[in-house]
Amino acid sequence: MKKGTLYLVATPIGNLQDITLRAINTLKEVELIAAEDTRQTIKLLNHFEIKKPMVSYYEHNKIVKGNYLIEQLQQGKDIALVSDAGTPGISDPGEDLVRLCIENEITVTMIPGPVAAVTGMVISGLPTGRFVFEGFLPMNKRTRQERLKQLKDETRTIIFYEAPHKLPYTLKDMYNAWGERRIALARELTKRYEEVIRCNLSEAAERYQVETPKGEFVVVIEGQDQEVLQELERDKYSDISIEEHVERYVKEGLPKKEAVKRAAEDRGLNKRDVYNLVMKK
Ligand code: SAM
Repeated sequence: MKKGTLYLVATPIGNLQDITLRAINTLKEVELIAAEDTRQTIKLLNHFEIKKPMVSYYEHNKIVKGNYLIEQLQQGKDIALVSDAGTPGISDPGEDLVRLCIENEITVTMIPGPVAAVTGMVISGLPTGRFVFEGFLPMNKRTRQERLKQLKDETRTIIFYEAPHKLPYTLKDMYNAWGERRIALARELTKRYEEVIRCNLSEAAERYQVETPKGEFVVVIEGQDQEVLQELERDKYSDISIEEHVERYVKEGLPKKEAVKRAAEDRGLNKRDVYNLVMKK
């Protein structure tokens, strides 16, 4: 029997006009819609006059419902997966269903559309050439601190999702971990009260100590400055001489030429200059 296909259908993140024609057609054509939040999706289906059986698929039922959806796909049914809003698979259990389908040799295809992370980053005004998406920060205090520490030296633009009631704590934690950076808070994207707050991290942290954040937020932060990073890297070796630095690598078992090259790189110096200096002795 021919297996069905899983269609990952992106839906609007606020403005219903952002739905694509392919998304509407796909939702009309499939036999079943798996929705992260059926109450939310029913509004969308009613708006576009789509009548389809729905099944809920979310974080806390994803194992049982995942198996059920695979059975249905094995029996030849085409299924659309939609998330609460935006692109399924981004910060929702969609990725687990995709993996299950791949394991079961079921075709997965995508109807692309809105995603809050990219929308927020593009209008942030921060560099878009290289970026990382971090989703939600962990809630556990220790894991959260570790994650922030890991990201301290990240030079690419960093994108986060955050719930409004947690935003004040998150901004404070970020400022404590990283110090001053440029930040953009992209709020209520595509909706009536869309707003992008562009400021410094300390200003954002202070603002939300007194003001209650409202709506949905994408937090976009500039990465660590490359030059600052290089300086910090050089400072690491400020307590040893160049000769000692080379000697350390030699003791680790590197040939002298390689040790010179590494030490020169660490200190941002010219390889030949370091070579001439250590060879003089
Ligand atoms: N799958 C979605 C996507 O493609 O963007 C994201 C789902 S995630 C569970 C929900 C988070 O996305 C929110 O907490 C918020 O950080 C962000 N988000 C969703 N819609 C947004 C909007 N209209 N404006 C700003 N942020 C939004």
